[in-house]
Amino acid sequence: MQRAELDAYLDQYLDVAKFRDYCPNGLQVEGKAAVMRIVTGVTASLALIERAIEARADAVLVHHGYFWRGEDPRIVGIKRSRIARLLEHDLNLYAFHLPLDAHVEVGNNVALARTLGLMVEGRSGENDLVFYGRTDTPLTLADLAARVEQRLVRAPLVIGDTDRAIERVAWCTGAAQGYLEEAVRLGVDAYITGEASEQTVHLARESGVAFIGAGHHATERYGIQALGAHLAGRFGLEHVHIDDPNPV
Ligand SMILES: [Zn+2]
Repeated sequence: MQRAELDAYLDQYLDVAKFRDYCPNGLQVEGKAAVMRIVTGVTASLALIERAIEARADAVLVHHGYFWRGEDPRIVGIKRSRIARLLEHDLNLYAFHLPLDAHVEVGNNVALARTLGLMVEGRSGENDLVFYGRTDTPLTLADLAARVEQRLVRAPLVIGDTDRAIERVAWCTGAAQGYLEEAVRLGVDAYITGEASEQTVHLARESGVAFIGAGHHATERYGIQALGAHLAGRFGLEHVHIDDPNPV
């Protein structure tokens, strides 16, 4: 398909114009005009770009792209190396940050819910990014932590009484430890996100809401894969997901 057609479809499907974000969403680095093979990954690291080049991709789609608000805007150093490789290979780079977290079909939060067996009942907080609902079966915190470890293939950080019953859960992928207060306000039994801060532990202990830090990368693998699968199904593109592992 033509890149221009893909651009327009992604902007509309992910409702890009609705979000005030910390980075530009959509096409960030322009490459070739025709797109047949796409690679998806969490972050546009040099390792991901090299593997996309090896896979002969025409476009790379990620959750974490470039040009973040507040960063040095010059194209020097690491940023220069990454962008040079994209340009040398005429590789398009698309990035979708908040629009991918929030999307109702392929978003990180709904995709994480599918992966962990959480049933979505509602959304709240800034940009409606905090999802809440119930576990598909009654669980203890220890059971939920074991399920997270098994399905995300990474041992989570768990704060709370592991014997306590968990029924209502809130979650937000990535570095959303700041939304634990929203989970407390919602009155859920547990909150799942990617990362923790020092103060997160105290807030979890004192509020009684159990906290699971399941990994920033680990919680954000699923949205971009779902987006790639959606594009493959709709437009007949070849899709390869590449995991560039990250312990955080
Ligand atoms: Zn993230």
